[in-house]
Amino acid sequence: MFTIFVSDESGVGSSSANPNVKNYQSEEHHLQRKIVQPLPPAKNPISTTTIAIHSRKCNRRLTTSLPPFPTPNHHSLCLSQDGAHLNGKFKGTIFLAVAMDGNNQILPIAFGIGKTESGESWTWFLTKLKECIGENPSLSIISDKVASIEMAIRTVFPFSFHGLCCRHLMVNLRLKSKKGKTFEQLWWRTCKAYRVSDFDELMHTLINDCPDIYNTLLNVGYDKWSRAHSAGQRYNVMTSNSAESINALSRHARKLPITKLIEFFREYLQKWYYNRRNLGVELEHPLTQWAENKVMQRITKSATWKVTGVNGHVFEVADGGKKGLVDLYARTCSCRQWQLSGLPCGHVIVVSRFLNQTECSHWALHWFTRDVYRSTYEESINTPLRRPVMPITARLSTRSNIRS
Ligand SMILES: [Zn+2]
Repeated sequence: MFTIFVSDESGVGSSSANPNVKNYQSEEHHLQRKIVQPLPPAKNPISTTTIAIHSRKCNRRLTTSLPPFPTPNHHSLCLSQDGAHLNGKFKGTIFLAVAMDGNNQILPIAFGIGKTESGESWTWFLTKLKECIGENPSLSIISDKVASIEMAIRTVFPFSFHGLCCRHLMVNLRLKSKKGKTFEQLWWRTCKAYRVSDFDELMHTLINDCPDIYNTLLNVGYDKWSRAHSAGQRYNVMTSNSAESINALSRHARKLPITKLIEFFREYLQKWYYNRRNLGVELEHPLTQWAENKVMQRITKSATWKVTGVNGHVFEVADGGKKGLVDLYARTCSCRQWQLSGLPCGHVIVVSRFLNQTECSHWALHWFTRDVYRSTYEESINTPLRRPVMPITARLSTRSNIRS
């Protein structure tokens, strides 16, 4: 699913005295005329566009240029979101929600354009997003610690987990300036720990080195930033870097009018979908390249581990450390890497080998598989009938080194 939402939050009224708002509203009308009214024949039938202007809502499907609907079956149920200012003549804010596909590549889900990055705007954006993806208690949302976003998530997705971007939190704690690289590495190991016991040990070291941050981290809540304590599934999403990467990619395009900005994204997505579709065709392993590499690393690491059977589906694995207790029926391992990352840990891999299974990809979650990856990108991003004279990316690339 890929969705565009454009909103004027407060209508004409008093806000029109602000010249930026006036420009923004003018751009909205332009967008409605240019995109919504003269829609060409449907090409991407499950994409959605909503344009709300002055309390009058026009809901049309934008069918010419947007990606098809990658459902939660195609990516993890963990979304990163971030906002960024529009820097051109037409002021406003862009809101982004992105997921990661099974090959650990950024997969934009929706973006919205509103007037300001307020709680009202975020609530509106998430409400529109919810209309497309529905209510799913397994959904996790990762963002910076910003009051407006926190309020909007509590309002629109009250049953979903809201985790914080660990990098943003680290910067706020000023860890880098105190202990340098060593301290930063300790921070990431603490955030990413799977076992609670590993987290406790690392946290003890962290607090010993920097006692000032203890109260802050306690007040924020361990569950908000620690994978071991997380109340929802974060998988490998410890930061909102993916959404910020899209914002960085569009830093020059955000100076353009909204229609040009949308075309900029369409051109990029068209290229990404094409390249990834071709990559999917070439895949031979049952898993994506990224997942296969992860599993191969764990195969190498676990080559000397020993397995002892407990019963038909429970196995104990001696790994030279804390051991792993694998339950194949429950799909759990006591190291928690399997259930928290979605890919089999070294303990599961050696149990698979112990059972003479030729390979272990069937223990990975479905969105890491080749077939799901292919189906994610099987549709094309079509070119609108009325194209710009010159591709936006081509024009921008003359001023910057934007890389896909
Ligand atoms: Zn394990």
